[in-house]
Amino acid sequence: MHNAPTEEKTVTAYDSYLDDRQRRAIRDATDALVDVRVAHVNSTASGGGVAEIVGSLVPLLNDVGVETDWLVMDAHTEFFDVTKAIHNGLQGEKSEFTDAMHETYRPVVVGNATDLDEAYDVIVLHDPQSLGMAPTLAERYPETTLVWRCHIDLTAAAPPFLEFVQSYLDPIDRAIVTLPEYGEGITGVEKTVVHPAIDPLTEKNRALDGLSGDAADAADLESYPFDTDRPLVVQVSRFDPWKDPLGVIEAYREAKSSIPDAQLALVGAMPDDDPEGIVVYREVKEATRDDPDVHLLTNHPDAGINALQRGADVVLQKSLREGFALTVSEALWKGTPVVGTNVGGIPLQIEDGENGYLVEPTDIAATAERITRLLTDGTRKRRFGERGREMVRERFLLPRLLVDYLGLLSDVSR
Ligand code: UDP
Repeated sequence: MHNAPTEEKTVTAYDSYLDDRQRRAIRDATDALVDVRVAHVNSTASGGGVAEIVGSLVPLLNDVGVETDWLVMDAHTEFFDVTKAIHNGLQGEKSEFTDAMHETYRPVVVGNATDLDEAYDVIVLHDPQSLGMAPTLAERYPETTLVWRCHIDLTAAAPPFLEFVQSYLDPIDRAIVTLPEYGEGITGVEKTVVHPAIDPLTEKNRALDGLSGDAADAADLESYPFDTDRPLVVQVSRFDPWKDPLGVIEAYREAKSSIPDAQLALVGAMPDDDPEGIVVYREVKEATRDDPDVHLLTNHPDAGINALQRGADVVLQKSLREGFALTVSEALWKGTPVVGTNVGGIPLQIEDGENGYLVEPTDIAATAERITRLLTDGTRKRRFGERGREMVRERFLLPRLLVDYLGLLSDVSR
C-alpha cells in the first residue's frame, strides 16, 4: 500500500459554493471529529471516478481538521483482471466466479491489509478491489470503524458476485451507496446514500482563463486535429464496454447522415486498474479507421478534458450500466447539454428535455435524433446548458460531498 499524492486545498476557496447550513455543519462536525484519523483506500491514484473524488475530498477533510490519508493498494495485473471481472459481474455480466479468481484476489487484499501499519479510527474502503481487506483489518485493528463505499450499481448483479461481496461484509460497519436501490441486494450492514460530486476548482472543472504552460496548450482546441467551426460531439469515458463506445459511434454515424460535418471525439483514460481498456480501445480504433472525423484521445490532461467538455456542442454518456457518471455533471457544469442513457446515476443528473436528453441504452435512433436536435438548435443548447450548470451547482459540487462525509464520519465514530 502506498500514499497517493494529494494537492493542498482549503475549504475557504469553496466558500461561494456553500450555504449557511453547510458552513454550520462543517463547524459542528469538525469540532466532533478533532481527534479522528481517517484513511481512504482504493486501487488507483488516477483515471476513473473514484480517484477523482478521493483526490479532491481528502485534502478538504485535512483542511477542516480531520486528519485523512489516501492510500492506494499495491497490486499486479492478474489482480486487476480479477477485480475487473468482479466489477463486470456486479454490473450484471453473467460469468463464473471461480476458485482461481478468489485465489488471485485473496493474497493481494490480505497483503495490503497486513501492510497497513497505522491505526486509523475510520477506514473507508472503495469498491470491490479493497473490500476484501476488511476481515484482516478488523482482526488487526478491532477498534477501527470500517466503511465500504460502493460506487457500483448492484441492482442487476450476477448472484455469485453479489455473494462474493456479501461474504466480506461482516466486519463492515457501514456501506455507502449512490442510490438506495443499489444497496437492496446486500444485507446485514447499515447503508447510507451519498451522491458523488465534482470539484469545481480543479483544472478539469474550473474556468479556463489563467492557465499557463502545458495546461494552456492542452486547453487550446485550435491545436486539436478537428475543426472547431464544425459541430463536435464528445464522450469522455474509460474505454470500457459498459460505456458503450461502439454504440456512441453508431449514434454519431446516424446523426452524421443528417449533419454531414459532425465530428466525434472519444476521450478515454487507461487507468492501472482497468486492463480491458487497451482491448476496447483497439476495437474502437478499428471501427473508426476510415472516418477522419472521429478522434480518439487517450490519457488526456485535465485541462484538455475541460476544454473538450466546454467546446463540445453535445456531450454523450451512452453507458449501458453506470454507478453515477461524474462526466455528466462535469459537462453540465460547463454549460454543455448531455445526451445520456436512462441508467444508474445518469437520470439523477439529466432532466429529460430540461438540461439534456435521456435515452434508452439500446435506442441508437433516439440517441442520434437527440444529438441532431441539439446540434441544430443553438438556443435550446444554450438554455439546456444554463439549467445544467445551475442543477450541478445546487446538487453535485464537492462542498456538499464534504458535508455528507463529515456527517457520516461523525455518525460512525460516535
Ligand atoms: N476521465 C479522465 N480521462 C479520461 C476519461 C475519464 O480524466 O480520458 C475522468 C472523467 O473526467 C471523470 C472520471 O474520469 O472525472 C470518470 O468518472 P465516471 O464517474 O464518469 O466513470 P468511472 O470511470 O468511475 O466509471
